Formats: sequence, structure tokens, C-alpha cells
Amino acid sequence: MRQSAPTFTTFVDWMTVDLYEYQARDMFEKHGVPVLQGIVADTPEEARAAAATIGGLTVVKAQVKTGGRGKAGGVKVAKTPDDAFEAAKAILGLDIKGHVVKRLMVAEGAAIAQEYYFSVLLDRANRSYLSLCSFEGGMDIEQLAVERPDALARVEVNPTEGITLAKAKEIAVAAKFPAELVDKVAEVFVLLYGVYTAEDATLVEVNPLVLTEDGRILALDGKVTLDANAEFRQPEHAALEDKAAADPLEAKAKEHDLNYVKLDGEVGIIGNGAGLVMSTLDVVAYAGENYGGVKPANFLDIGGGASADVMAAGLSVILGDPQVKSVFVNVFGGITACDAVANGIVAALDMLGDAATKPLVVRLDGNSVDKGREILAARNHPLVTLATTMDDGADRAAALAAK
Ligand code: GDP
Ligand code: MN
Repeated sequence: MRQSAPTFTTFVDWMTVDLYEYQARDMFEKHGVPVLQGIVADTPEEARAAAATIGGLTVVKAQVKTGGRGKAGGVKVAKTPDDAFEAAKAILGLDIKGHVVKRLMVAEGAAIAQEYYFSVLLDRANRSYLSLCSFEGGMDIEQLAVERPDALARVEVNPTEGITLAKAKEIAVAAKFPAELVDKVAEVFVLLYGVYTAEDATLVEVNPLVLTEDGRILALDGKVTLDANAEFRQPEHAALEDKAAADPLEAKAKEHDLNYVKLDGEVGIIGNGAGLVMSTLDVVAYAGENYGGVKPANFLDIGGGASADVMAAGLSVILGDPQVKSVFVNVFGGITACDAVANGIVAALDMLGDAATKPLVVRLDGNSVDKGREILAARNHPLVTLATTMDDGADRAAALAAK
């Protein structure tokens, strides 16, 4: 069987939006989840001012969309505003698993007695929700799942019933919370489930959820993933998307209303129709295995109307990706016939002129395929190769990318 899982995963990523910790904190607060004060800071001076505002012990935390910040030196306790200034200086610019720290959150410090783990997520495989919970939090949850699977409770949550107080208690008991804590944490699980449903999240994770020395339960770190398909009913979510961190090529594609997603490969892909483009990604990934693991560089659906303008915009986005070594144009002529697409390609190449530098493999099929092929053959562009089938095209494009 061909590998379709990586493509599917790519699309799941595309359809979701991960929040920064400070955004998750704000969201928790909005839904009544107990959190501590947190103020965003982009410079050491701002961190000092934030620490002064909060007062007392503070924690300076790197805002990057990856876990393990603590271990990487991205979380530092500060006793004074000057400490916070120094901590900020040390953390800003730090590279944490490939994420450079540009923003911090200065949070009120907590006196931690115990650390726990809680999450609720969309369980695609079982078409259900799942809650993971452990009395032993703080540590890396993947590590806990492998090393001490018994310590990590997995409780299915029926989406129509949700996490009621009774369900929350069931989760707490399964996670081995002692009887005197069950009611207390269960209340917070219900509130976190409120975030999950009200915000159309696919993941709400708290690691650590803590018990403070004065007996309070607090969410000290939050990870929230939102379902971008729900944006139509979540108008506030658009503001949470990270425009700056978005890929510049994706930004350019957006300007031209192109459906483009940057991937991590060498073969640029252009097709019409999301289904065809997704299959093209799979076919190219499969063909690429014969050429040292060459992979698709992007998803780009030019939709129904493959006009010269759209084709040129698409090509220029793809050719602007320095990782791209070859391009595979895979079009099935329907309402827009192949001759129109071929004219679009020719005109796009003429429009781009010297900016078109990478070999193009074109496969046309469907409505007016013969006319389309004739047009491309007549133009005889040095960069263009015609493929007979989708597999042939994928193979040629992969071979060219591996050269
Ligand atoms: P992560 O490493 O990216 O998951 O970042 P976290 O926000 O989870 O912080 C890592 C660790 O720092 C936590 O597990 C705590 O042990 C510690 N930490 C975070 N906030 C506080 C705080 O307010 N007080 C104290 N004493 N420790 C904290
Ligand atoms: Mn954490």
C-alpha cells in the first residue's frame, strides 16, 4: 500500500492552530480555569517591568511552540525585577529545538507541592475524545507513557456526554489521585473540558497542573490546539494565528488566494483540486523513495480555473522555495480544459522569464488533453518535460529533484 499517512498528518497540522502558552493561559482564565497572572514581554526591560507589576517571585518563560522549555533553559525563576531582566536576557534568542525565542511570559511564581498531568484530546482513530491523566506530572509525558504506562490513565470521553463532574472524578481515580484530592482536581478537569468544547480545540493539555503549598490547584503550563475548521464560528481565533511565524511563501500564496502549504521536500507540486493534489503528494513521496527519499515540497491547489495568472503566481511561489529542485504540474482537465491549462503554463513561463529556473514535469489528462499536449510540444520550452501518466510524471520529477 502507498503511504498516505504522512499526507494526512500534514493536513491535520494544516487544519489546526497551536497556541503559545500565554494565549492558552488567557483562554484558561476566560473559562475560569485557575491560573496565575502572566504578562507578555518582548525585551528584558519589559520583563523587568512585568516582574515589578506582578511583585514577589516570578517565573520568566520562553514562548515557543515546543515542549521541554524547562530542560532547555527556557524557564527561569526570578526573585526580583532585576533577576527577571537577567533571566530575560539569557532566554531571548535561545534556540529551543529549532525555535528561536522572541517573546517571553513573566508569570507569577508558584510554591509547588506536587505536579500532575492532564489532557483531553480528539482521538481520531477511535472517533472519540480521550483524556490522559497522571498523578505523576511534570516530566515529559511521552517518556512517562513509555517508561511507566501504568502511571498514565487513558479514559475515553464520550463526545456527547463530555467531562461531567462524575466523569472527571473517574479520570482522577484512574490517574491514582488520593481520595482527598479527587474532588478538587475533578472540578478543574471540568473547567478544562469547558475550554476544549467552547473553543473548538482538538487538544487541551496541562503539564504541570499543580497543587500549591497552600492547597490550590493551578494550571501552570498550557498547550491548546484549535481546530481551524471551526474558525467560521470562532471569529476571535483569527487573531491568535501567528502571522509572523507563518512561512513567507505561505504569506505570498495567501496574497494570491492560492491554497498553498509549504512542506519539507524537493519536488514542487501544482495540481487542480485538493483530492488530486493530495494523491500527487503521495505518488511523489512514493516515487521519491527510489531516488534517495526525495519528497514533495508543497501542497498547491490552483483550483478550477488554471489561468495564466494563477499558474504564474503558483509557479513563482514554488520557484521561490530554495529547497525546490523540480516541479510536477499534475492537471486533470475538467471545466477548465487542458488546452487552457497548457496556455496558462506557457504564458506563466513567459511571464516569469529568467525567474523560471527549475525543470517542470507536466502531466495533463482529461478534457482536451491532446490539444493541451500539442500546445506544450509546440512551445518546446527547455525546462518542460511532458509526462504520459501520473506515475511517470512523479518518477521523472523525483529523478530531476535528485540530480
Ligand atoms: P515546559 O518545560 O516547556 O513544559 O515548561 P513548564 O511551564 O511546564 O515549566 C517547566 C517546569 O518549571 C515545571 O514543571 C515546574 O517544575 C517549573 N516551574 C514552572 N513554573 C513555576 C513556578 O511558578 N514556580 C516554580 N517553583 N517552578 C515552576
Ligand atoms: Mn510543561
